[in-house]
Amino acid sequence: MLGRHERKTEDKIRLFRSFFSGLPQVYGTYDLKTGRARQVKEQITNEVLLAHLTGKQSYGVYLLAKDRTRAIAVDFDTRDRTAPSEFVARASHYDLSAYIECSKSKGFHAWIFFDKQGVIARKARLVVQHILEEIEQPQTEIFPKQDEISANMRYGNFINTPLFGGLVPKGKTVFVDPATFSPYPDQWDLLESAKRHNESALNEIIEINNLSEAPQHQSPIPNPENGNRGTFSLPPCAQKMLRDGMSQFQRVGCFRLAVHFKRVGLPYDLAVAVLKTWAKKNRPANGKEVIREPEIQSQTSYAYEHPYSGYGCQSPAIEPYCEASCPVKKWREEKKASSSENTGKIR
Ligand code: SF4
Repeated sequence: MLGRHERKTEDKIRLFRSFFSGLPQVYGTYDLKTGRARQVKEQITNEVLLAHLTGKQSYGVYLLAKDRTRAIAVDFDTRDRTAPSEFVARASHYDLSAYIECSKSKGFHAWIFFDKQGVIARKARLVVQHILEEIEQPQTEIFPKQDEISANMRYGNFINTPLFGGLVPKGKTVFVDPATFSPYPDQWDLLESAKRHNESALNEIIEINNLSEAPQHQSPIPNPENGNRGTFSLPPCAQKMLRDGMSQFQRVGCFRLAVHFKRVGLPYDLAVAVLKTWAKKNRPANGKEVIREPEIQSQTSYAYEHPYSGYGCQSPAIEPYCEASCPVKKWREEKKASSSENTGKIR
């Protein structure tokens, strides 16, 4: 896997560093015998990277530098190839190139790379979370895990980088073709040609998909604490889901409703109470069970504990409940039209 063209070691290190850099004075590694991970507070020299590429000591990158990152990775901790494939396809829908790496144990990482100055990590995470929601994998782990370094969190979390020498011959830590999941024959060629995106690509996706802000709705939703008189407001799709219940995609519906509840300021306990009432209206098809309280709590916790804010308009679970009169729909269409006028591109 050295590459079709004979490359000098220093060229490989330079190329590798240009993709897998973050904090320069700390990295993660693991014991090759026990697998135990540890942090190393040392400068990331060429020798550190060479030790990784030759399989002597692994190098895990702390991607977050202040509030910027030069790459983002999704950790699909499963042997099932469906989710990483769907992620790559959905990212491609937004003109983002994602690269699948077969990780060191089971599972896959999907990487998206950014240009040299990096991008605001919050934006990258917002976009990737949106894609994960669209493929119905909202709980998948994303690196960097945080939006920025803070006084309470100096390093963030490291992620093991690809091309760890000892595992490459075993077909681990290598980039694979998303169609076949076979390792690319030339890993260095792949890296050299990998697309690096800039922040404006993220800005466009955030804007078109309304990931940061959206118009408010005036329609009320029932509030069981005050005799079901309206206190909060929701978009038409959510009102319809609440009114009629769902016959499929209950999990996604529950999560999406919880995101709406969070947005309009409904307290967590009240959100769970409303969703328990909603669940009684659900009539699952194909003999499936009605969503139970622990799952409702789990979905609601995820929605409340993470910075999800999307409306899920493009989710197959939500689309059947969409209404043309929705202000979000009109707003999205106007944004899309003005964006395609400005850029000549429609995503
Ligand atoms: S556009 Fe449709 S799916 Fe999106 S928030 Fe409005 S009603 Fe819901």
